[in-house]
Amino acid sequence: MTKTFRHRALTALALAASILPIAAQAQDKPAPISESEVRAHIAVLASDEFEGRGPGSAGETKTLDYLAKTWASYGLVSGTNDATHPWFQPVPLVERKPYAQAVSATVRGKPLKLAEDGVALSGRNPTDRATGEPLFVGYGVGADGKLNADVKGRIVLMLSAEPKFEGAVKLPGLRDRQKLLAQAGAAAVLITAPDGAPWAGLRAQLANGSMRLASDDVSAPIGGVLRSDVSEPLLRAGRVTAADAARPDFAPVTLPVTLDLATSTTVRAFESHNVIGKIPGAKPGSGAVLLLGHWDHFGICRSEEAEDRICNGAVDNASGMAVLLTVAERLARGAPMERDVYFMGTTAEERGLLGAYYFADHPVVPLKDIVVALNVDTVAIAPAGAPVALVGRGENGLDEIVDRIATDLGRKVDSDKEANAFIRRQDGWALGAKGVKSIMAGGSFSDMALLQAFLTTVYHQPDDELTDKVPLGGAADDANLHVELTRHFADESKYKPATTGD
Ligand SMILES: [Zn+2]
Repeated sequence: MTKTFRHRALTALALAASILPIAAQAQDKPAPISESEVRAHIAVLASDEFEGRGPGSAGETKTLDYLAKTWASYGLVSGTNDATHPWFQPVPLVERKPYAQAVSATVRGKPLKLAEDGVALSGRNPTDRATGEPLFVGYGVGADGKLNADVKGRIVLMLSAEPKFEGAVKLPGLRDRQKLLAQAGAAAVLITAPDGAPWAGLRAQLANGSMRLASDDVSAPIGGVLRSDVSEPLLRAGRVTAADAARPDFAPVTLPVTLDLATSTTVRAFESHNVIGKIPGAKPGSGAVLLLGHWDHFGICRSEEAEDRICNGAVDNASGMAVLLTVAERLARGAPMERDVYFMGTTAEERGLLGAYYFADHPVVPLKDIVVALNVDTVAIAPAGAPVALVGRGENGLDEIVDRIATDLGRKVDSDKEANAFIRRQDGWALGAKGVKSIMAGGSFSDMALLQAFLTTVYHQPDDELTDKVPLGGAADDANLHVELTRHFADESKYKPATTGD
């Protein structure tokens, strides 16, 4: 994002504020949010003009501009609580895309043929190279969770499966083990392809590149994944198997094959943004309600020869942002609420909840003051009248409240915990991990067959577009549900958190 953009956007915001009535007075209960209101916002956000809302693209500029201006037109004010960065919270990111690699192997000076299409490398710098005999470290850590070898300057081969040692405490996951090896100075960290992951998909994902928070940008100069027909001959050469790594007396083994690895990578550090608006509460100091959804999607996601190159993300998650816009409109012109109500569009959710993690580390209000976070993601799945499911059911003591409000609206409640399968796959997870009561309530996660039909077809593809077939009845229902949920949680007399700060 350039400064020019911000200045232009701010001028436009100031203009919008001056010509529109500031917060409207309390009125009679407004009509329920309709499908057509939700559709109008999706139509803009998922249009080709918005280029699939890729972080750091022209589509980001248009998306942020639309969200902030629309919220401002309803009477919301900036929610960043930072006069130097009104509306937009900068989120520093680093993106890397590998575009070339070279792999060769020799045994005692003689070439060893490895299937090069079974190796997918990624580099940290524009060019990286590593040469040497790889050290097979098994899981990379022992039962104490600490690194099991001196890996400085080495090419390391590690199993991607989660380590299981008898009597061990919770051991670090794959990404954390990769980070430990990188921090210990490994020249390259190669992992075995995870079991059951189709190689073509894995490779496409790696070719797509990685995006990380600049504050979490830890990796070895070269990373890579090896298909089993590449990793197994290497292990055989060292007379070791994957099963050996699970033994308590396992010691890392140098594999007597000299590898020469080289990568070329496009590296780009840039600022993306969370966009945050606020309806100030009538009772300062009484806490805050946070509604959030991710504005980003995959942008221009296909190569030049493809007929449709844009991943528009109509359902994922233009639909959720449309709900946050319509809910803000209704709440801003309704009766005043006691608590501050924040509306946030997060960036880079698709690349690992990055905007939400950044916010959790740099919240605009102390996290302990956020009485609840309501995440809205992928809502245009179910028809009108779908039961309300809860991602996060049983996790934070809010089930009864949500169930009662849903029932009062005439909706059925889906009380099984199936929806919790998605708990780690949504922005609320980043806040929940830091102790914020976080839920995702709605109809999309009540019918697993409908949801799977979406996930196995257009999900994350250029076909996630707004058509007449996209059901918006459930999205409108969920918008109305969130008006009532927010009104409830924003009222101190109706909802008091069990522990009121410190
Ligand atoms: Zn997604």
